[in-house]
Amino acid sequence: MADRGGSRVDEARNRSAAVTAARRTVVIGAGVIGLAAAHALRRRGREVVVIDQGEPGAACSAGNAGWITPSISAPIPAPGLTWTSIKWMLSSDSPLYIAPSAALGQARWLWRFWRHCNAADFERGLHAVASLNERAIRLFDELEREGLSFELHRDGLLFVFREERYMETVRREFDHYRRYGYQVPKALGAAELRTMEPNLADEVHSGFLVAEEYHVRPETLTAGYLDQLIKSGVAVRGGTAVTGFVVADGKAMVVKTAAGDEPADEVLVAAGAWSGRVVEHLGARLPVQAGKGYSVTIAGRGDMLRRPVYLGEAKIGSSPFAGGVRFAGTMELSGINTELDRRRIEAIRRGIARYLKPPVGPNEGVEWVGMRPLTPDGLPMLGRIPGIANGYIATGHAMLGVTMAPVTGETMADLMTGRLDEAALLPFAPGRFRW
Ligand SMILES: Cc1cc2nc3c(=O)[nH]c(=O)nc-3n(C[C@H](O)[C@H](O)[C@H](O)COP(=O)(O)OP(=O)(O)OC[C@H]3O[C@@H](n4cnc5c(N)ncnc54)[C@H](O)[C@@H]3O)c2cc1C
Repeated sequence: MADRGGSRVDEARNRSAAVTAARRTVVIGAGVIGLAAAHALRRRGREVVVIDQGEPGAACSAGNAGWITPSISAPIPAPGLTWTSIKWMLSSDSPLYIAPSAALGQARWLWRFWRHCNAADFERGLHAVASLNERAIRLFDELEREGLSFELHRDGLLFVFREERYMETVRREFDHYRRYGYQVPKALGAAELRTMEPNLADEVHSGFLVAEEYHVRPETLTAGYLDQLIKSGVAVRGGTAVTGFVVADGKAMVVKTAAGDEPADEVLVAAGAWSGRVVEHLGARLPVQAGKGYSVTIAGRGDMLRRPVYLGEAKIGSSPFAGGVRFAGTMELSGINTELDRRRIEAIRRGIARYLKPPVGPNEGVEWVGMRPLTPDGLPMLGRIPGIANGYIATGHAMLGVTMAPVTGETMADLMTGRLDEAALLPFAPGRFRW
């Protein structure tokens, strides 16, 4: 909890008076967002400490599909989703599952989420995220040039479908992205698809390729960031939960952890789905929920696919990596927990069998669950924590945390070092929620 007073505050005040050039930033959370922000802050001359309650990089940023896809910038709350999601509540293997047991506890959040399922909010949100993402791909090229070591592929993203009509609906959604440098992709037939991906099942008849997109193996991206951070003198403290703050004069002076106190000139909360809980210690209330997703990674089957493929109607993403392939999907609102629901994993396995051959065995692969940080309007929260002059937050990236990690890192570092005005981030302002 926040405590107010005592010698630690005086100590921190003296320290912060002495430190002008190298301000000490404490980043809370070593997922891809916290690490990318730490990287960008360090490059701007900040003294940076990164603290994580677990193993750095091991939470949601580990087992995801690793797509770098600015062309999927649309917020999750979309027109028409209200009734679909209520219907899906009844089925534990639907693409979006709201656990009835958790629905009561999340009623307020869900109500806000459903209220954003309208065309105006959807268009506004898409524009805000797509604009921020205009340099997302370029920043991955820059990371590579800079010498960060991670597995990066530039093979595009192939969408495949069993129903041509549905394919057309999804393909037409690319109209939204014309102003961000994309074309509506050309429709592909069965023969063209098979030349590209020989292992597609016979029932897959149509699709399209978005050639611009990249993908990474996400574990290698976080490992690359960590490596670079440590080389540049950043202290990374894993296994160290943040338990509170010392706040004085509206500023967070000390970050309290299970392993002792960390003096801070400024703090950045990038604690993923846990971010709401962390900012409560600062007296702020921000609506961050978990959107659980699952994946299965099969080693030795990397040749199953040549490029990332979206299995359309099943809403499953797949990514081939060096020496393996990963299938990922589903969105489950069941509160903040990492319990693995077997029914969700089985739904992914059944989905794969409908699009690809030969089948994946029932026990094949490593199963994983992760919590995407979600906000009720589907947009990230990037900015100052209400009521804390030197406190910032970067979270709520939902299905786009990997795509948006470098752009978020750069944006937050610019904001925190005075190179970017808060007004430029209005759609993402944490204070937009009256909670
Ligand atoms: C199935 C699935 C597939 C996905 N596919 C993609 C994809 O293809 N492309 C894409 O762009 N995105 C994808 N995502 C989304 C992406 O994984 C997330 O948006 C991203 O990983 C969120 O990163 P983060 O750093 O905010 O959170 P996390 O990686 O969860 O990191 C938060 C960190 O904060 C730490 N923490 C929490 N509380 C405390 C505390 N009190 N003290 C100290 N530390 C604390 C945690 O231990 C954790 O390490 C996918 C997600 C899922 C689930």
